[in-house]
Amino acid sequence: MVEPCGQRELMDQLEKQYPGFKNQMDVDYLKCVNSTFPVTPRKKIIRDTIYYYDTVYTIPVVFHVLYNNAAENINDSLLINQLEVLNRDFRRLNFDTSNTRSFFKSRAGDARIQFQLAKVDPQGNVTTGIIRKATTTTSWGGGGGINNNMKSSSTKGNDPWDPKKYMNIWICDLSSNGNDGLLGFAYPPNGHPSWNANSWVSDPNQGVVLHYKITGRNNPLSNTASLNTSRMGRVAVHEVGHFLGLRHIWADDQGSFNRCSLDDFIDDTPLQGVGSNFNCDQNLNSCIEAKNDLPDMVENYMDYSSHACQNMFTKRQIITMRNAIKHFRKDLPIQVQIIEKARIFDTVVYDQVLVYTVAKDNRLNIEVKNEDIVNNISYEVYNMLGQKIEENHPIISNFTQISTTRYPSATYIVILRNLDGRVVRSQKVVVN
Ligand SMILES: [Zn+2]
Repeated sequence: MVEPCGQRELMDQLEKQYPGFKNQMDVDYLKCVNSTFPVTPRKKIIRDTIYYYDTVYTIPVVFHVLYNNAAENINDSLLINQLEVLNRDFRRLNFDTSNTRSFFKSRAGDARIQFQLAKVDPQGNVTTGIIRKATTTTSWGGGGGINNNMKSSSTKGNDPWDPKKYMNIWICDLSSNGNDGLLGFAYPPNGHPSWNANSWVSDPNQGVVLHYKITGRNNPLSNTASLNTSRMGRVAVHEVGHFLGLRHIWADDQGSFNRCSLDDFIDDTPLQGVGSNFNCDQNLNSCIEAKNDLPDMVENYMDYSSHACQNMFTKRQIITMRNAIKHFRKDLPIQVQIIEKARIFDTVVYDQVLVYTVAKDNRLNIEVKNEDIVNNISYEVYNMLGQKIEENHPIISNFTQISTTRYPSATYIVILRNLDGRVVRSQKVVVN
């Protein structure tokens, strides 16, 4: 079976090595996320106009092509078109955005992250950003799991360029016994709260590894039965997602009895219990959600669906990746570009936020009826003594549910603020 990315194997390896590893990830995440990712609004509201101060991150890429034969020494054109795929998909300029199903459309976004071949090497010399190196290693995928031998000259690979300043992509033969089982892998940033410490690796091992047959779009070597669902250059998109902190949308808990409770820590991907099976099954709905149930998001680059149906990152995944750059890979972007745009924001639309509780249901519900509000407001909860029960949390999806099991029965006040911190709404709710 084809494994689009080595992450699952890596997680299983780590689970064996550290029993309880996967569950511990959730615990660590909750502990760490608030302190690591303080909410810093990007947008400033002046009167009723929103000004977006936005940054486009451009990441320099260096390709290390390691080859043992001519076929593995893939052509420049594939490397260039691989970069084009990354740029289109991360900027949501891909040709197939119209395939995003209507109920997911508002969740899809432009990551404002782009990639270019490095123009200057670590010594300050002009470079093409492409290194080619012959090696006596015939395959890097065998030997009982994932290894990092391709990342060091001492193990017949090639040393990375400063991983803090370049995104290194090694391209090599990841097959094992002639089987194209492993197509790529990447490690999350060290310290990232969506991952526990056992998944972090030292700097020289940071970067992305791709199987040479699936690098680039329509790589002629991928025209095989086992690789034909991975022909659109999106293994790289998926792996760069991991490199920027994203997890699989089903949280790698397919074998677990509670697979629908473990999450990918991304609120706007539906709960998903299994990964897609390299196809485009749009009827797949592995977890039924109590409210606003949606099918599995086969459109997502972080699923294991066929490339033909992948076409989006969600807005929350984008926030996570951009935060990863800001907090963990801050020296990586070489160029930022400020975009400023403004639009009139009608305060009346705040009426289109419903805040309510339902008797005998231990949840506080915030429903946003107007898409423009999502990501533009936050909520906090106070008791009648004025004590803050919930800290300021951004509202990032149309439907937010807050557990009230720890609230004593009483009346509470939910405050909604715009990104400038102004209160735009206060709403009393009764918790029974
Ligand atoms: Zn993966």
